[in-house]
Amino acid sequence: MNSTARSTWSGWDPYPLFVQGGSGSRLTDVDGNTYIDYLLGLGPMILGHRPPEVTRAVVSMIEDRGTVFALPTEDESRLVAKLIAAVPSLEQVRLCNTGTEAVLYATRLARAFTGRSKIIRFEGMYHGFSDGLYWSKHPDLDEAGPDRAPVAVAQGPGLPRGVGDNLIILPWNDAGLLAEVLEREGHDIAALITEPVMCNTGCILPEPGYLEAVRELTARHGVVFILDEVITGFRLGLGGAQGLFGLKPDLSVFAKGMGGGFPIAAMGGRRDIMALVADGTVSMAGTYAANGIAVAAANATLDILARQGTFESLFERSDRLREGLERLLSDARIPSSVVGLGPVFQVWFSEHPIRNYRDAARHASHTVFRRWWEGMMERGILFHPGAFENLFVSCAHSDDDIDQTLAIAREVVAEL
Ligand code: PLP
Repeated sequence: MNSTARSTWSGWDPYPLFVQGGSGSRLTDVDGNTYIDYLLGLGPMILGHRPPEVTRAVVSMIEDRGTVFALPTEDESRLVAKLIAAVPSLEQVRLCNTGTEAVLYATRLARAFTGRSKIIRFEGMYHGFSDGLYWSKHPDLDEAGPDRAPVAVAQGPGLPRGVGDNLIILPWNDAGLLAEVLEREGHDIAALITEPVMCNTGCILPEPGYLEAVRELTARHGVVFILDEVITGFRLGLGGAQGLFGLKPDLSVFAKGMGGGFPIAAMGGRRDIMALVADGTVSMAGTYAANGIAVAAANATLDILARQGTFESLFERSDRLREGLERLLSDARIPSSVVGLGPVFQVWFSEHPIRNYRDAARHASHTVFRRWWEGMMERGILFHPGAFENLFVSCAHSDDDIDQTLAIAREVVAEL
């Protein structure tokens, strides 16, 4: 398998579906079974599979103009202008290919800007697979240290031990602890990176005031606040989670939603920080950065997303699905909650409220989740088998898709 997330040990047991192709909200496997797709490629297919306008833009780019020039194009300037118009905290932007790259650049830039070396990162989040940050995503609690003083746990072998020493690992949703740590060690901390919603542990929401506290505390200690909007960007609204929550990070990273299924990412933010990239002090390289195909796809995707009513109807359908699932589960008296926001959420099987990774690791039932996943999958509803992953809804999901999904969920819930 060409990604750990598609492997048997990520839950695709005994083996993953092999895909023939997709169209809109539907995906078909090589045996000819069709599914309503809430996996959506783990997020990029915000417009559904094969959105015609994106396909046309890409084909025209390839046929008429070319793909990689190693020189700037007007198209990429237009794309960056759209990003800046959509997301208020973006004053300058650089394009690259993947979320991992964008995060790597953001943390390097923060270190260069502050002259400090440590990064605060939260247990349960994922910021790509670079050596510098692939720590404490979902650590074994036996290795992860005390609840209020977690230690950095490598997400598998092969990561140089010393790299983890540059990370300060914290539990999320605890502003008091963050304040203490910043008071004590702020002078040595270059950046804090967080997802606005903990999508990588099943969509845990920030508690009221938490992200505002992160903003205020990082500013007070001169720590660069990096918001990882790889999942939430161009999904929770054209302005991402920061637009929805009214948050102004120093740097942000975007990827999945902006490319309509093509590999493109963006890192940007405050002009005084980005100046180090603009004047070449901090290098952001990449042969394929802002390549013609990805830029054409992103320009077309953002134009569609910017149309009046796009997010309203996406949220309307997503909310109907989420609330419908919630009602089914609560009517059946199954200890559970449906957690998330708009078109990204997860069903939790737990009696306890979950506000951070350790709550999830201790209390979420993987066994019940597995039954839920299998029941849905057998009946043609596809999402990731991991209890800490998400269900994604696209602009291509219709009212009919939602009705069918809820009807099938009713059958499955009855068997849990
Ligand atoms: N950041 C977040 C929040 C992610 O969810 C992911 C991927 O799932 C990444 C970064 C890494 O992005 P990519 O897979 O494009 O490298």
